Amino acid sequence: MNIGIVGLGLIGGSLGLDLRSLGHYVWGMSRSADTCAQAVRMGAADVAGPDPAELSVSDRTDVVFICTPIAAIIPTLANLVPYLPPRAIVTDVGSVKAAIVTPAEQLWRRFVGGHPMAGNASQGIHAAARQLFHQRPCVLTPSSDCEALATLRSLWQSVGGIVLECSPADHDRAVAWISHLPVFVSTSLIQACLQERHPHIAHLAQQMASSGFRDTSRVGGGNPELGRLMAEYNQTALLETLHTYQQVLQKTIAAIEAGQWQDLEAKLRESQEARSPYVSALLD
Ligand code: NAP
Repeated sequence: MNIGIVGLGLIGGSLGLDLRSLGHYVWGMSRSADTCAQAVRMGAADVAGPDPAELSVSDRTDVVFICTPIAAIIPTLANLVPYLPPRAIVTDVGSVKAAIVTPAEQLWRRFVGGHPMAGNASQGIHAAARQLFHQRPCVLTPSSDCEALATLRSLWQSVGGIVLECSPADHDRAVAWISHLPVFVSTSLIQACLQERHPHIAHLAQQMASSGFRDTSRVGGGNPELGRLMAEYNQTALLETLHTYQQVLQKTIAAIEAGQWQDLEAKLRESQEARSPYVSALLD
């Protein structure tokens, strides 16, 4: 297939690496000439540049993945529309769906929303890696275009993704629980540690931090722009989960203050059992 990737960063670059290794022709587009040159050098695109006119987008393209930051997805699609052949399928990888899918469908008839649940704390083309999507859930938000959906399903499966389908609204509510809330819980953890007033204790804590702190602080120490855009574009669902989290935390504080150790352990046991369905399908 002839595939375009716009926004050559962690997600776009990683997708390019996998799609090219499967034999697809990939053109890449990004604002910076350095990003584009690096993407070609590392094998994430066959050709890349900042200008769609120079990439022969119109005669070549079957599918375009828009992999820019969330706020740039709709403006990027609007700029691309004059160059796309009518049959081209367009999708995105943005971490929110309702705010993107509705305007994107108005701009392009063959648009299907997407979101691979994969990533790490790095960003930019240098962070791109092969197999990033292997065994990771990948959400598609079906439209009436069954053929476009089937093409995207098969492309994501070919790079190892486990495809799930749901509405943009359901995606945003579910992703608030397992992705956006954890970012703000994790960043609050780091912020709380910064409240330690005694420099000696703060330094000691840094020296003592090990795998538990590394795991619980990972998503809070990731891409700040991505975290801000999650909050901005999924504000309602994120606030619902944060308020629930606040209530749960308040109950935990009350149990510890009252010395209700049995109740506390019962909650910890319940959590130990409840965690498994969320993470059992994941490979490390
Ligand atoms: P990233 O590493 O920062 O890559 C984004 C790329 O887009 C950059 O390399 C940048 O290259 C280009 N770009 C930046 N601003 C732009 C703009 N205003 N207009 C056009 N291009 C722009 O980010 P990412 O982590 O790959 O995230 C990209 C998308 O994937 C986001 O929509 C995010 O919600 C989604 N996502 C991220 C993760 C994750 O964990 N990171 C997971 C799933 C989905 P140039 O500077 O060369 O243009």
